[in-house]
Amino acid sequence: MTNPKDLTATSCIKLIKSKEVTATEITNIYLDRSQRVNSQINSLITICTEHALEQAKMIDENLDDHMEKPLLGVPISVKDVISTSNILTTAGSNILSNYIPPYDATVVKKLKDAGAIIISKANCDEFAMGSSNENSFFKCCRNPWDTEKVPGGSSGGSAASVAASQSLLSIGSDTGGSIRQPASLCGVVGLKPTYGAVSRIGLIAFGSSYDQIGPFAKNVEDCELLYNVIKGYDPKDLTSKKQIPDFNFEKSRNLKDLKIAICEDLINENINQNVKSVFDNTVSKISELGATIEKINIPYIGESLPVYYLTAPSEASSNLNRFDGIKYGISDQSGSSSWDTINLTRSNFGDEVKRRILLGTFALSSGYYDDYYDKAQKIRGLIIESFNKVFSNYDIVISPTSPTTAFQIGSLTNDPILMYQNDICTMPANIAGIPAISIPCGMSEGLPVGLQLMGPNFSEPFLLMASKIIEEKLSWNNGVKISI
Ligand code: GLN
Repeated sequence: MTNPKDLTATSCIKLIKSKEVTATEITNIYLDRSQRVNSQINSLITICTEHALEQAKMIDENLDDHMEKPLLGVPISVKDVISTSNILTTAGSNILSNYIPPYDATVVKKLKDAGAIIISKANCDEFAMGSSNENSFFKCCRNPWDTEKVPGGSSGGSAASVAASQSLLSIGSDTGGSIRQPASLCGVVGLKPTYGAVSRIGLIAFGSSYDQIGPFAKNVEDCELLYNVIKGYDPKDLTSKKQIPDFNFEKSRNLKDLKIAICEDLINENINQNVKSVFDNTVSKISELGATIEKINIPYIGESLPVYYLTAPSEASSNLNRFDGIKYGISDQSGSSSWDTINLTRSNFGDEVKRRILLGTFALSSGYYDDYYDKAQKIRGLIIESFNKVFSNYDIVISPTSPTTAFQIGSLTNDPILMYQNDICTMPANIAGIPAISIPCGMSEGLPVGLQLMGPNFSEPFLLMASKIIEEKLSWNNGVKISI
């Protein structure tokens, strides 16, 4: 019998291709594990039993016709902010607790065309706002390494489902760190692609100039496989890039010729000492690979938190206007006018979402716009320029992914500012639009630590290649496995 904990997407595809197992057998194994483990970690909002078995059957009935599909029979979970036709899509919110989209997001369509089996919809913070999954209307997801700890957020369910082998891959979204931070806290690989590299059609919008869909996987090879399936131009998405420039990474087939920058501004007093020592140890292993590593400062990067928390909520306050009890989701019609319907329905947003709508509305309002929103946008431009300069001298910028390992459930819920600081290392890449990946690099007190690598626009193939080399060098968990 195949043990779900031992498989990767790549090895699963080989087993199906060589006819050692059928797609239906694999699907049943992961459906069974999804059910069982979900009672412990609450990583999944919907388990798509019927849909998944139907997709698997289609593959098995005509296996020879499907042989070339890059994700043949691979069970995948999809964050619940991404639309799936005829499957409940809640965005982790009460407001959308009954919403069944009539269409598939472009990425979901691509996954199905590639032979992947959509096995579940993953838990997340409401409208992807959060760093711990505690803002989900469907209750907090738990970290499979220690169920008293958060899995990170907002794509916590995606990261946890891969870490706990409920699926082999997952799709998440990253506005300020929501793929990389939970990947780091759960010990899996997560990539935020360049803004415009992956279609956002069907992603329920949070901060449209930041949002990006991306892959989660157990290792870098699987992450690359999934990224190659979901990337590419989508004529329906005006921000998707028509022609992705070729990235020349000839010189860096190994790490010897690479110049790597450590961003000192991100390694300050906010980084916990244990994370720092795992990071330092990782840096010395990378230098053994022959890369030149230098410490640098990136001007304005220290302003990332205020820039993000003014501009992203501004965009959110506009995007979330559409949830008015009339067009989508639940509708409270117990009042006497349509204004009452809007008021009553919108009172079902959770506290964090309300806070963001208020903050964004305030920053955009006349009299404050110039002082807040406009100023933040200008600093955003300066941060982009800073990165451009850095990448004219260096190939990669590295930092820890998250300032801490997974923290205790409930420990930061009363302190939004401290919670916001979880994304201090990840937000700059969203602000600049550049790609960034988190790979596990070690353990601290039984919990995983992540290393973040950032590269210039559209350097994903190169970032993935460098990550593979580093991954191979680090035996990050020394074989310790999740016990559930
Ligand atoms: N934690 C950040 C926030 O709450 C990032 C969220 C995200 O990337 N979706 O806004």
